[in-house]
Amino acid sequence: MRIAIVANSGVKSRAAETKLKQALVAAKFPLDEARPDVVITIGGDGTLLSAFHRYASQLNRVRFIGVHTGHLGFYTDWRDYEIDALVEALRNDSGESVSYPLLDILADYEDGTTSHYLALNEATLKRTSGTMRTDVYIKENFFESFRGDGLCVATPTGSTAYSKSNGGAVIHPRLDAMQVTEIASINNRVFRTLAAPMILAPDEWVILRPEPFQDYVMSIDQFTITPQLVTAIRFRIADERIHFARYRHMHFWDRVEDAFIGAKQE
Ligand code: NAD
Repeated sequence: MRIAIVANSGVKSRAAETKLKQALVAAKFPLDEARPDVVITIGGDGTLLSAFHRYASQLNRVRFIGVHTGHLGFYTDWRDYEIDALVEALRNDSGESVSYPLLDILADYEDGTTSHYLALNEATLKRTSGTMRTDVYIKENFFESFRGDGLCVATPTGSTAYSKSNGGAVIHPRLDAMQVTEIASINNRVFRTLAAPMILAPDEWVILRPEPFQDYVMSIDQFTITPQLVTAIRFRIADERIHFARYRHMHFWDRVEDAFIGAKQE
């Protein structure tokens, strides 16, 4: 089993990376950054997001493991002081894994080119100045004309991130769903949107056809893209999924409670 380590630059993460490398070498695991079977991230959710994008072309064979050096994360199960237990779990590995849905984004540009992206948390479309105006279609059917700051389309695991800040529901990641949330929509007697989060079924897709402004900003997880003149963006649940090596299980709702309420620790 070939292993790659992706660590952030924090002091605790670097120390954990050194310890993990030594333990893996001692246990005779080959380290292979180019074609790993398992990618271990050390840091927080942001570090796992970076590793996901680095290995996005190998998702069908890579399993991820997240080690956190701060608070419990949504993609990180192991603590930095549990390195020995983690290496022991790797030695006893029998291929246990759990997988979660991803978001597939296809952007069409005015010059006829297209770009394709995968997101683990979400994608957003916003304008840097002025109101964003876009027609929203569900499948090929017109749904609404949106005016406001922007729209966010999230995966179930992304539902606890940006989407939640927009008033979105927290979705159990065992559901194959994607959620659209509004970012400061304008709603009055003239302009009207649904003004509520929408959760779509696995065989549905959403298309945005924005008015042709030059100043759109698209975000895909932690990346910001300033695209050329965009004519349409289609969002659907991806065929690919992210796989995590699962040597122990934490209930999703316990994780949610720990991250957002924390009353059990008092
Ligand atoms: P960051 O350093 O700005 O971190 C944002 C926070 O989001 C961190 O606390 C991180 O742990 C948390 N986070 C990331 N993924 C999460 C998830 N799936 N569930 C719950 N919390 C999660 O940036 P980063 O660490 O590179 O993360 C990028 C993410 O930040 C984006 O994908 C987006 O979801 C989030 N974000 C949120 C807002 C907002 O809530 N208003 C705005 C911009 C970006």
